[in-house]
Amino acid sequence: MSHVFPRHCHTQPPVAVAGDGCFLIDASGKRYFDGSGGAAVSCLGHSNDRVTQAIKDQLDAVAFAHTGFFTSEPAEQLADLLIKHAPGDLDRVYFVSGGSEAVEAAIKLARQFHIENGQPERRHLIARRQSYHGNTLGALAAGGNAWRRQQFAPLLVDVSHIAPCYEYAERRADESQFDYGQRVAQELEEEILRLGPETVMAFMAEPVVGATLGAVPAVEGYFKRIREICDTYGVLLILDEVMCGMGRTGHLFACDADGVAPDILCIAKGLGAGYQPIGAMLCSDHIYGAVERGSGFFQHGHTYVGHPVAAAAGLAVMQELLDRDLPSRAHQLGQHLESRLHAMFGQNPHVGDIRGRGMFRGIEFVQDRDSKTPFDPKLGIAAKLKKAAFAEGLICYPMPGTRDGRVGDHVMLAPPFVATEDELDAALDSLQRAINQVLPR
Ligand code: PMP
Repeated sequence: MSHVFPRHCHTQPPVAVAGDGCFLIDASGKRYFDGSGGAAVSCLGHSNDRVTQAIKDQLDAVAFAHTGFFTSEPAEQLADLLIKHAPGDLDRVYFVSGGSEAVEAAIKLARQFHIENGQPERRHLIARRQSYHGNTLGALAAGGNAWRRQQFAPLLVDVSHIAPCYEYAERRADESQFDYGQRVAQELEEEILRLGPETVMAFMAEPVVGATLGAVPAVEGYFKRIREICDTYGVLLILDEVMCGMGRTGHLFACDADGVAPDILCIAKGLGAGYQPIGAMLCSDHIYGAVERGSGFFQHGHTYVGHPVAAAAGLAVMQELLDRDLPSRAHQLGQHLESRLHAMFGQNPHVGDIRGRGMFRGIEFVQDRDSKTPFDPKLGIAAKLKKAAFAEGLICYPMPGTRDGRVGDHVMLAPPFVATEDELDAALDSLQRAINQVLPR
């Protein structure tokens, strides 16, 4: 009997014993193509020498130095590189151990900023339905995934949730893409006015929605309108790029494609590429400046903030991304992926939507394509697909539809950027075999 909490109580997963490029290998020697990079984590694959060497070198130098006393060379260098390439005027970095911690830090910094600025009445956070921002209580409260929140609802702080920008399911037939985006963005202004603008602290969104919708980017113009609304009312814009950042969408930062820069940006997953747990919150100078001039320190902290070994891994990952121009590679491979997905599944009567950007793609399955009716959740399409694909040696990230019937079962693909076109094609063949086994004909 294993004493480790497995993901699901009645299933014991295989033991991963090795990584080889885009493949994971279990104890029986079976190879799995990592078609989702775990959960959009492993952007460099599993055996990157530069990153593993950087970790070993840092361990040999100094494994840990608490940030209450020290900073470290890799943390300073990684922050410099991130800021050099970050959107807008982001110019300070706070390192944490993962995505939820980055989101928690963002929420608390937004609150502290307004207090330092003499506006302590600003305390409301607005986010979106069908979003995911993490599993710690603050991040879970921000997320709009009804199923994940349900049992913990009594413990969660109050957050308003407006509509996501989810064109496939929500755009009306008589509406242009642009008008749809403006209409849903307008919900933010309405909610700010309803709450009272002087009480609103921040708006939080994922530029490309990952874990809840499966790689859904916003339509053109949506985030520009969101930015305008935030500026009008002095509301901070927090973008959560924990899943879609670090080159995954074909841009180093996903919001670059939307032409907006946030006040606070959260990243994680691809930052450590799975080699070390690391996340970061980036903020602009006017936010940090208010804290610096005010109480002089951010009222937050975790023991492993700025961990030197994690920072060394993050620095090596960032250098790999930049030196090998991997965001461009993600863009180019993503185009290949997109055209193969359309060619292979575009005519399938149960494929409702194929979407995403770069190496971040989603397929949504429906019972009926014309009415976009999702499958009955009792059929467990997503879970069956995961199992069938895994048996075929493919790791993909399937998600069940939402219980309110607005989102169908879908599967997310987020392969390493170092995959070859042949590897991707073979993975899609495996996915096709899994889909053929699971979906009704
Ligand atoms: N934000 C987003 C957008 C995410 O996708 C995730 C993880 N799936 C998180 C936050 C939480 O990150 P972590 O699991 O590292 O805490």
